Amino acid sequence: MELEQALQAADLLQKKMFAYGMAESALYLDGVTVAPKDTAEGRGVALGILAGESQKLLTDPETGKLLSFLEEHREELDTVRRRQVEVLRREYDQMSRIPPEEYMEYAKLVNDADDVWHRAKETSDFALFCPYLKRLVEFNRKFAGYYDCTKKPYDALLNEYERGMDMERLDRFFAEIREKLTPLIRAVGQAQQVDDSFLHRKYPADAQRRFSDYLMEVMGIDRTHCGIGETEHPFTLNFTNKDVRITTNYDEDNVASSMYSVIHEGGHALYELGVRDDLQYTVLAGGLSMGVHESQSRFYENLIGRSRPFVQAVFPKMQEFFPEQLKDVTAEQMYLAVNRVQPSLIRTEADELTYCLHVMIRYEIEKQLIGGMLEAEEVPEVWNRLYREYLGVEVPDDRNGCLQDSHWSGGSFGYFPSYALGSAYGAQMLHCMEQDLDVWGDVRRGDLSQITAWLRGKIHQYGNLLEPADIVRNACGEFDPAYYTDYLTKKYSEIYGLDR
Ligand code: ZN
Repeated sequence: MELEQALQAADLLQKKMFAYGMAESALYLDGVTVAPKDTAEGRGVALGILAGESQKLLTDPETGKLLSFLEEHREELDTVRRRQVEVLRREYDQMSRIPPEEYMEYAKLVNDADDVWHRAKETSDFALFCPYLKRLVEFNRKFAGYYDCTKKPYDALLNEYERGMDMERLDRFFAEIREKLTPLIRAVGQAQQVDDSFLHRKYPADAQRRFSDYLMEVMGIDRTHCGIGETEHPFTLNFTNKDVRITTNYDEDNVASSMYSVIHEGGHALYELGVRDDLQYTVLAGGLSMGVHESQSRFYENLIGRSRPFVQAVFPKMQEFFPEQLKDVTAEQMYLAVNRVQPSLIRTEADELTYCLHVMIRYEIEKQLIGGMLEAEEVPEVWNRLYREYLGVEVPDDRNGCLQDSHWSGGSFGYFPSYALGSAYGAQMLHCMEQDLDVWGDVRRGDLSQITAWLRGKIHQYGNLLEPADIVRNACGEFDPAYYTDYLTKKYSEIYGLDR
């Protein structure tokens, strides 16, 4: 085989993988947005075939031979090619180590577990879901060994979502969060609460739709390359850097809900839209890790979107969209309302300050489940105790407790910490950005173009070319959660008039 031929084969392989992925995503998107209710059957059949075919393609012995050949010629490859080979090799090895019958069995288990979890959540019946959780934990422990047998099982799983991350680092990270934020949350709880009642007036969905268009415009999202749809749970889906879709959910009794979903998903979208052209149709296209992705979405949502200058900048326009609802409200009142801190039960509705504690609780539980220190049966009891301890709230039932998230029923153990890491990465990035740009002057003028350009230059353009720790280091130096806890302490002490 000539090198030139091999490179062409590698291009074709990656393009085929892209095509399978695109087809699967398009079917998924159709299913959750516009497809009529009873049409899932055909899509299910097609998705099953596509998943099987893409797995076959990746684990084909020819693919193995091709990768070995390219590895022998490593010295002749440029950085982009080397990285492609590395990523393909990792995926190939991982997939090849999982016995096909176990893979099939696990796929079926996840499918069944999702269905059972929905029912268990509806009726708040943990006992129904418990046997599935048990088996999901067993499988994940076993798969962790296939992913990387040199690591402890939970470390191997963490590495799947944020490469290079492990329990040792996360224990230190969460200890810092716990130490700095729990007293702050307690002090906020004793301070005068801010009023957010006007957020819960009637906000018609149609006006909210127009408001979403406006927010996307402020963010500088090119609408010829990014669509918006409506789903129960908001998400971002990327086909290429020229075709990204976001979704939101309109709650007529809460104008902040969709507002901040759109800004959050818009942050994910800007990331995907900013990846370099030459990485498209390869394994390097698309955002890097869950943590880095969340750093971008939560950057726009919280650090920018919930800042005083941003709220002041968009508020006059907001009043035009909702003249009746906001006629007796000022920009400052809006700023305070969208930053109201209220320890609560549900992670996805949590405020910026208490959010990380929700994540920390899940991390503690997962770590013990996968580590074999905790049995599935004990999860509700531990969950409720940790919510009491860290957030001071009583969990009334499992539906508002350990059954609230879909991650475990989907087999995702090790995913949660990325939400907290992303928030912390973002705060450190902001600190560095402030040295380079007049961030708040720009935000006050409603001009986010330089901010996005900074992020694009340091993060977005690289797609999957670098490792998470390198991306963070290149953008803002060695990761240090103190930037995050300092930011939160300063912001919320000011809002709640705490003496610090
Ligand atoms: Zn997100």
